[in-house]
Amino acid sequence: MNVLVLNAGSSSLKFQLIATDLQRMEENRDQRLCRGLIERIGGDAVISIRGRQGTQTSNAALTDIGAAVAYIIRLLLPDFDIHAAGHRVVHGGELFSESVVITDVVIKDIRDCIDLAPLHNPHNIAGILAVRQEFGSKVPQVAVFDTAFHQRIPEPAYLYAIPYRFYQRYRIRRYGFHGTSHRYVSHRYRVLRQITREQTNVITLHLGNGCSVAAIRGGYPVDTSMGMTPLEGLVMGTRSGDIDPAIMTVIASKEGLSVHEVENVLNTQSGLLGLSELTNDMRELQQSVIQQGSTRAQLAIQVFCYRARKYIGAYLAAMSGADAVIFTGGIGENSPEIRAAICGGLEWAGLKLDEEANHHAVGVEARISREPSHITVYAIPTDEELLIARDTVRCILGEPHPS
Ligand code: ADP
Repeated sequence: MNVLVLNAGSSSLKFQLIATDLQRMEENRDQRLCRGLIERIGGDAVISIRGRQGTQTSNAALTDIGAAVAYIIRLLLPDFDIHAAGHRVVHGGELFSESVVITDVVIKDIRDCIDLAPLHNPHNIAGILAVRQEFGSKVPQVAVFDTAFHQRIPEPAYLYAIPYRFYQRYRIRRYGFHGTSHRYVSHRYRVLRQITREQTNVITLHLGNGCSVAAIRGGYPVDTSMGMTPLEGLVMGTRSGDIDPAIMTVIASKEGLSVHEVENVLNTQSGLLGLSELTNDMRELQQSVIQQGSTRAQLAIQVFCYRARKYIGAYLAAMSGADAVIFTGGIGENSPEIRAAICGGLEWAGLKLDEEANHHAVGVEARISREPSHITVYAIPTDEELLIARDTVRCILGEPHPS
């Protein structure tokens, strides 16, 4: 089955066409037929396609996500059949704890979650409607939610200690994000170790532009660092992660900003960018330290790593110990230095990094802890698109979701 995987943002659209079926996923033989990215949707959009002939870039006037989806479909159809579509949907609220075949009711439910993710869900819906517009009901569609994997997190971990009526009235609680990534790498760990879901007790760190950590016990998250929105938790490229909420009032009154404007500062001007006042990009920060001896870049990296280590400690306590720590995301997969800085000082917990193995693990699956180490450490590249494609096939065939 050729599955068109779509990840629609405010002005960008990532897509992949993946050929997979139950047999292929069992044997890890899924095939990526084409992938690409459309940026600057709303104006003169830039389209980059990676296919058999390498990467090709072009421009087109694409007014919105719908136009971008239609463009991709027309581009693919001469060469490939499209049998199904799988969509990354950011927020499923409390309504979705797993991926689902999209129906009118599902679209309405995703709309009902717009309040929780006003910047994301509308674009995801636009993507779904655009595929419908092109194919009608001939091409079944599946929604895979960022929040779904975290829906089993127990009440004491998802409730905030604010008046309970706010949870009742507005569903203010921890939802968590990056669920597809945490789910994928914990699944890969299970395959590598040849263990069951019930035996899967790991802490997964997704460190990309957005960053989050999940405590996974018995195969399911018991806690995660992102909250009602992706703003909570770890230090990120431009997001602050955890702060004292009273800081919002102080900044608002001192700077003459509205609460919305302060939230925007915390989302877009904080984190690595805010601390360094240089860049949100970890690689560039590391270069600034090496080439210019930038102390601010160094400080930003230190705050980033300290926060991550603190969460590992907290989750070891929350889940009564873990068997493994898994690094993923652009930073987690590619930066031995950051992994070493985060793991340094965790030897007391039985987590001992293998310097050599860590150094060589760049963009590949690898065990990077010493033997024996009470807590094993892995670098595992994430592949959310693959999981979306697999979920799409499973949902359409009515198969359970083993990963
Ligand atoms: P997104 O969350 O947007 O998908 P990625 O997962 O690609 O982002 O992660 C982007 C981050 O990964 C950037 O901060 C980038 O600098 C960092 N990164 C990528 N490669 C490396 C590397 N070799 N060393 C350090 N950081 C890296």
